[in-house]
Amino acid sequence: MAEKIVSGDEVMVISGKNKGQRGRVRTNLIHKDRIVIEGVNIVRRHLKQGRARQAGIVEMEAPLHVSNVMLYCPSCNSATRVGFREAADGGKERFCKKCDATIPQPGRRSERERNV
Ligand SMILES: [Zn+2]
Repeated sequence: MAEKIVSGDEVMVISGKNKGQRGRVRTNLIHKDRIVIEGVNIVRRHLKQGRARQAGIVEMEAPLHVSNVMLYCPSCNSATRVGFREAADGGKERFCKKCDATIPQPGRRSERERNV
């Protein structure tokens, strides 16, 4: 099945302590049904000294379960359900089930950033 949410999408958290927050998806841990969102669900981790790592407290984004997140539609400005339909070029496209607008796939920017 095609992914409803991919990295680079703007999403809104609909449940849990981060409810109502919006952000861009950094990573989609598809096999765990979890995603990491930029600036959302910040946790502090107390790290021990490692080989290439200093000990200390770092803040990082923890993954959220995909069921607590909805795709944010830019044309009707709300969290929305996503459908798939055939595009004019014969491929598949995502659309907003509220306003029927096509939601384009974001670029692969974040994929590349991770490998740098
Ligand atoms: Zn919409």
